[in-house]
Amino acid sequence: MFNNNDTICAIATPQGTGAIAVIRISGNKSFEVIHQIFKPKNENINLLDLEPYKVYYGEIYDKNQLIDDVLISVFKAPHSYTGEHSLEISCHGSPYIQRLILELLVSKGIRLAEAGEFTLRAFLNGKMDLTQAEAVADLIASQSKTMHELALKQMRGGFSNKITELRKQLLDFASLIELELDFSEEDVEFADRTQLFALLANLKEEVNRLLESFKLGNAIKNGIPVAIIGKPNAGKSTLLNALLNEEKAIVSEIPGTTRDTIEDTIMLRGTAFRFIDTAGLRTSDNPIENIGIERTHSTIEKSFIILYLIDICNSSVEEILEEVKLIKTQFSNLDKHVVILANKTDMLEESPKELAKLLEQETIFISAKRKENINLITEALLKVAKWDELSEQLIMLNVRHYAVLLEVQQSIANIEKAFADKLSSELIAIDIKNILHYLGEITGEITNDEILGNIFGHFCIGK
Ligand code: GDP
Repeated sequence: MFNNNDTICAIATPQGTGAIAVIRISGNKSFEVIHQIFKPKNENINLLDLEPYKVYYGEIYDKNQLIDDVLISVFKAPHSYTGEHSLEISCHGSPYIQRLILELLVSKGIRLAEAGEFTLRAFLNGKMDLTQAEAVADLIASQSKTMHELALKQMRGGFSNKITELRKQLLDFASLIELELDFSEEDVEFADRTQLFALLANLKEEVNRLLESFKLGNAIKNGIPVAIIGKPNAGKSTLLNALLNEEKAIVSEIPGTTRDTIEDTIMLRGTAFRFIDTAGLRTSDNPIENIGIERTHSTIEKSFIILYLIDICNSSVEEILEEVKLIKTQFSNLDKHVVILANKTDMLEESPKELAKLLEQETIFISAKRKENINLITEALLKVAKWDELSEQLIMLNVRHYAVLLEVQQSIANIEKAFADKLSSELIAIDIKNILHYLGEITGEITNDEILGNIFGHFCIGK
């Protein structure tokens, strides 16, 4: 797919004008080429013997034509990002200068890098495994505190350590089972079945937990889904607007105007929440509205947290108590965090203290219209999300890992069935081999051009 003997170069900083731009070079010819185009300010420096992990100040020339004053950072194989000899030229950030330097490098026989090729080389040279390379992409894309933390953890190898450990345990068994097959006529058992069962049970538990964590990983990546529900006119759109601090949802006095779901992501102290305003749970004769109501149910399904809004100014105390009771029964068997919000406190003549007592349920009193107590909602959401505890867990972020672990889950099920049906060791051996293969695919011990092309093709050029 890629020719790894070539020396490659690329601009590593974003397109356009900046104060400084960085051009990266990696490969055997790096030093030889820099020797031809770079003139250090300090004339005593021997260009053929540049010391690694130092920065050199000088000028880039195209023949006798001065191009720019630059700094060059030097890295020598194998102690570099790619594991190869590499250089980083920091030049002035004009796109014109960047292009001139790049063209000069190409004219000296250095090839323009493909997307992700520096990180691909790092992987191929054993500087990192595949999950760590993937974490580099997540790190670059991270836009919230939680995503940043998860990507960093994965880049440090948290996830691959787990997978490698599981694979290693299974590997020993695989060879014992293979041995049994060699002696199949003598009917011996080298692999201790009790131990194998224990191992499989452990593997199954770990795999299930990781698969389960993917839902959370995804929520962290895209924002934790929060459904805002309540009767028509309770003030859902107004609340969403207060949360977003801008007018994105339709607010109107006709019941049921929020016919579709509207989503918006906001960052609350470093954690992204995705708010989904819905049509409410009322059944209606209006077909368009009913589509909205159907969506409400699917929104509730998908959400982690439900903000249930009650209009306390247009309902009697009995109605409010009845509604809260209903909410409790409706959501008690769902695994969701429900936060009850009593809205329109600005319309009350007296303080809602009495009502609060009657509710016997933690309730936040707000005025969505006047943006009062919105900060209490933020507090409640952050409390539910509890990321401090989560950061101790291993959370899977990557859809490729998810797909591969589903295959592992299937193979485990096959083995269990084979044992239950007293099938031959041969079949069990096949599935154990499959699991080893899949786990190896996650870390990149086993790989092919298609997998690599898919992963690194999505990187930016210069990374
Ligand atoms: P939805 O149907 O639940 O989305 O309700 P809307 O957000 O469209 O609000 C319905 C009506 O209630 C609108 O006239 C809002 O201005 C009003 N409303 C919403 N929140 C408050 C509030 O806190 N106080 C008062 N007085 N009116 C509110």
